[in-house]
Amino acid sequence: MADGTHSARQTLYICLAIVIAIVFAIMAPTFAMKFHLGGEVFLNLLKMMVVPLVMSSVMCGILGMGDVRKLGKPGLYTVLYYLCTTVLAVVVGLVVVNIIRPGVGTVSEEARAEIEGEGSATGDVIYEYLSSQVNLPKEQVAEFFGAAEQTEPSIGMILENLVTSLFTDNLFAAASETNLLPLIVFSIIFAGMLTTLGENVDALKTGIEQINHALMAFVMLLMKIAPLGIFCLVTARFGEAQHEGELVQVIQQTGWYMMTVLTGLGLHALVTLPLLFWIFTKRNPYKFLWQMSRAVLTAFSTASSSATLPVTMDCAEKEAGVSERSANFVLPLGATINMDGTALYEAAAAIFIAQVIGMDLTFMQQVTIAMTATLAAVGAAGIPEAGLVTMLIVLNAVGLPVEYVALILSVDWLLDRFRTAVNTFGDACGAGIIDTNFASEMGGSESA
Ligand code: ASP
Repeated sequence: MADGTHSARQTLYICLAIVIAIVFAIMAPTFAMKFHLGGEVFLNLLKMMVVPLVMSSVMCGILGMGDVRKLGKPGLYTVLYYLCTTVLAVVVGLVVVNIIRPGVGTVSEEARAEIEGEGSATGDVIYEYLSSQVNLPKEQVAEFFGAAEQTEPSIGMILENLVTSLFTDNLFAAASETNLLPLIVFSIIFAGMLTTLGENVDALKTGIEQINHALMAFVMLLMKIAPLGIFCLVTARFGEAQHEGELVQVIQQTGWYMMTVLTGLGLHALVTLPLLFWIFTKRNPYKFLWQMSRAVLTAFSTASSSATLPVTMDCAEKEAGVSERSANFVLPLGATINMDGTALYEAAAAIFIAQVIGMDLTFMQQVTIAMTATLAAVGAAGIPEAGLVTMLIVLNAVGLPVEYVALILSVDWLLDRFRTAVNTFGDACGAGIIDTNFASEMGGSESA
């Protein structure tokens, strides 16, 4: 485990970097925007690690177990745990949005008429915005929207898509798109095969373990420049918002909605997850949150739980005392399928839109929102604002108008940071819980 003062100092530097970055962006937005290059370099360095690290760590996790059959119980419980916490997050979101009712009487008739009147123009703005965020051509985003609007998604269809997304016909294409789910499936099967091939493949097994250790050493090196990289990322994005006058406007126009989502996220991260963590590990959850703080802050700064994965693994192993084998297997899976913050946000945003247009949702419709938000979050990639795209599934499932996404577009980049932080903390809690409860299967744990 890392020396406590060293990690505390690193966390402090990162916190300072974020605070200074925001103040700087507000005071000198145009200058702050120039730091975007530094931010991009840091982000790319992190992203570059994700595919090799996920593959080598999952393989190491399986090799460490010695027999892929041992994966059954912890694997099943990991998936179940992640699903249950996602459902809990959705419930928190639904309760909060139904109590605060941020969409009732907060959006003027004119604003609504504008969205409805502009129709396709609003659609265009949304497509353009999303295509710049998720790096897809605008036409492809529009096509995706069009197809989704025509077919009302059933739960069965969403499940079918999820199952197909587990497999790929081209490993390299999946790797180049950072499509982690099929890579995890491949790594499990490949490492499982290796455990049955005996001494013949010993060199290969050792090689995989060495690659994994070397990659983790690389991550440690990256952490040395993290405060600087994080400063650049945060100041450039906040500077851009301030420059475009978005920052004040966003807070004025969507204040209640923001407050609702943030309250939900806060409750989930500071009450639900800690409670579960304490029940299943008997460890102090807030100390665990502190130990994971570098990862949580990196998630806030990058808005990508995939890009944060290397840091999450580093913190979990070195500071939070999660065994390497558990971290190796549970965290990559978590970063891919577990998105509590995203699910909570999708459910809350859908109900917010329903409140704005004055649509009374029945209990069954709210249940449909809960189920689709859970599945949509499982299917969302760990990249910036992926949740905004998969939210379409939720809106369509209960017939809510997609163009109303325009209402929450301006604030999404900011909320995305908070929900990504919650996603990452949720992944870490899962690793801590699985590690404590399946220590023997996962290869033992050092306690923190
Ligand atoms: N940015 C989130 C993540 O990477 C996904 C989302 O909610 O948009 O976890």
